[in-house]
Amino acid sequence: MGVVTDWTTLIRDVPDYPKPGILFKDITPLLADHAAFTQVVDELADGLAFDKVVGIEARGFILAAPVAYQSGAGFVPVRKKGKLPAATLAESYDLEYGSATIEVHADAFAPGDRVLIVDDVLATGGTAQAAVELVRRAGAQVVAASFLMELSFLAGRDRLPGVDVRVLVSV
Ligand code: IMP
Repeated sequence: MGVVTDWTTLIRDVPDYPKPGILFKDITPLLADHAAFTQVVDELADGLAFDKVVGIEARGFILAAPVAYQSGAGFVPVRKKGKLPAATLAESYDLEYGSATIEVHADAFAPGDRVLIVDDVLATGGTAQAAVELVRRAGAQVVAASFLMELSFLAGRDRLPGVDVRVLVSV
């Protein structure tokens, strides 16, 4: 396996997506590069011990599933409202315009499970904050939340007090 010296060059800026004025961080070039992808997956779980990995729909799934596979942990999806088939817990959070709701299966965790939350980008922190609440309400403990990238000007980590927030790159 090759080592990528600077995989951050494989994150592409896409202006005005999904709306005018937003500079979207596109990780698909990084995912398409095997050495970069595997390096990032290794780093997301580095030094942490956990029983389950939570991936947040949808790009979080792409990163969290290989972290779980490689670590010998289980994978738990946190999905947008209405997508999970069995009984769920739900958390809503504010967006710039309106609100969003994410859900997890109510029986996804064993009591006291140690959980690593994984997503691609930490922006305002609303999504991650809701995911932390879901894990705790489901009876598990959050050992850390790991992100490929943090948009530091949005101060998302301020919404995650008491959470071990890991970011591989901060812009
Ligand atoms: P937040 O709730 O504002 O922190 O937004 C985080 C969620 O939005 C994550 O699930 C990200 O996948 C997504 N997101 C926000 N900005 C970007 C971006 O620039 N690139 C990719 N995903 C983003």
